[in-house]
Amino acid sequence: MMFEEYLKDKVSDLKETLVEKIVFSDELWKYCAANSCGKYKKSWMCPPAINNDRHLIEKYRAFNKVLVISKVSPLEDPFDLEGMEAARAAFQRILFDFQKHFGTDFRYSLLGAGPCSICEKCTYPGNPCRFPDLAFPSLEALGINVTELANTCKMKYNNGVNTVTYFAAVFYD
Ligand code: SF4
Repeated sequence: MMFEEYLKDKVSDLKETLVEKIVFSDELWKYCAANSCGKYKKSWMCPPAINNDRHLIEKYRAFNKVLVISKVSPLEDPFDLEGMEAARAAFQRILFDFQKHFGTDFRYSLLGAGPCSICEKCTYPGNPCRFPDLAFPSLEALGINVTELANTCKMKYNNGVNTVTYFAAVFYD
């Protein structure tokens, strides 16, 4: 499959599953509301903006399959926040490159790791999203529990003390 073929050398693991096995839970949003990542109420692709956009959630639910991908990156130590953010940014770049590569010729939608980072400063809430066709939310922002997702797909969520593992997903038919 072409998505898998494109991604297989760029990520650490990838598994295909069915969208019907993915749980989108409103419950997870309460963790976003605790604002531990500092992005709550700061982005069009995060809660609470996402909570009100049921249309967006239904868009993902309407696909048949999901290619779940993960990337393991080394950290200097378990508290290496800079290393975590650098690894996340590198992982998101793989997704942006994926979008550039496949463009709009194919029907797919992405869910990434962490808040949308396309613009230096998001336009939320004063102005519309600058890149609605490129921006994509995180798995968590749509209420997907990443640990459960990893279990469902038999992928490793924890890959050792001095590592961080990010997950993303390509929804397609
Ligand atoms: S593309 Fe820019 S404006 Fe749109 S959600 Fe992402 S950061 Fe915000």
